[in-house]
This record gives sequence, C-alpha cells and structure tokens, in this order.
Amino acid sequence: MTFARRTHWAKRAALAPFSQTRIAGTQVLLTFDDGPHPEHTPAVLERLSAFGASAAFFLVGNRITEPALVEQVRGHGHAIGNHTFGHAVPRWREFRASIDDVRRCQLLVPHATLFRPPLGKLTPGLWLAARQLGLRCMSWSLDSGDWRCRNAADARRCANEVLALVRPGDIILFHDDHQWIAPILDILLPALAQRQLLPNNPSTTRQPR
Ligand SMILES: [Zn+2]
Repeated sequence: MTFARRTHWAKRAALAPFSQTRIAGTQVLLTFDDGPHPEHTPAVLERLSAFGASAAFFLVGNRITEPALVEQVRGHGHAIGNHTFGHAVPRWREFRASIDDVRRCQLLVPHATLFRPPLGKLTPGLWLAARQLGLRCMSWSLDSGDWRCRNAADARRCANEVLALVRPGDIILFHDDHQWIAPILDILLPALAQRQLLPNNPSTTRQPR
C-alpha cells in the first residue's frame, strides 16, 4: 500500500482560482484535519512545540467537546481553520445546508481564518459560505495518506513516503484524530527540521531536545 501522494498538477491548476494549494517561500505548511481530538491533538501540539514549528488545524465543529482544547491550539500560535460543523460532503448544487454547516462551525471557532471542505471537495455552496465569512480556502499539494495507517510499520512508511515526495512550498495534509499521527511526526519533524523546511512558530521558542 502507498500512503503519500502529490496532487496532480492539473487538479491544482483547476483549484487554484478558488483554493490555495501551495505556499510561497521555501518551507512547507503542515495541516491537520478532523480534530480536535482530546488525546491526539495535544500529542501533535507537543511535538510541534518541541520543534518550534507552526501549523494549521482544520477543526470539525461537532467534534469540539472541550472548547479549552481549541484555545490550546490557538495558544500554541497555530492557524485555525473551519472544516464545517458536520463534515458532510454536500451535493454539488446544494447551497443552504452548506452555508449553514460552515456558519455553524464558525460560531464555535470564531478566530478561524481558513476553510477546508470535507474530503477537499469544494462545492459552489461551500466556496460561497467561506467567502461570505472571509475565510481563505486551502487545499493541499501533498496528501500524506496518514489516515490509512494501522500499525507502527505503516506510520514509518507513511512518514518516509512524505519525506521522499516533499518539496518546498508544499501544503501537506495530515489528520490529528488517530493514534498514528504521533509516531509519523516523530520521524517526520526531525527530518523536515534538518532540511530547514519547517516554518518557525514566532510564539514559541525552540526547546533543545
Ligand atoms: Zn476532514
């Protein structure tokens, strides 16, 4: 099984007018979808802090059981994204329900500045909802495939595949709602730091390891 894969250039080109797929500069942006998770999100925060790295977290409204956890993500200086309230993929022509779903999430994460649709499927309704709320749509250029990991060997392979494919300017997709994200980051972060690809988080000072 292959985990990581790059987004095809034609797909990125088609998305580009509506949604960001790369970042400017020589580093990468790590993004984490489908949290917050009471156990795995803090594990991710801890690892990012250890490297003084900043990231973006796309939160699902109905998974916010502990508002303090959202504040913790924000307190660590990471960008917050709206990932809808219910994580449903709407039909292409559906507008009302999509707008409600994005707005309902935004009430819970009022500081969110970014938006990512469930499964990355940006429908006209979701795009309009994000636009109305002043949220910047963000896709990715490298999908880690992390959610398919089932054991430690998978996590190792996933991390190594990301390292083989990553390029400066990539937006990388991860998920912080599963137990294999911590071991993936334990391999990935030191290697990315060594290649000077990790964005520095101005709100944390790098701690020696
Ligand atoms: Zn998602």
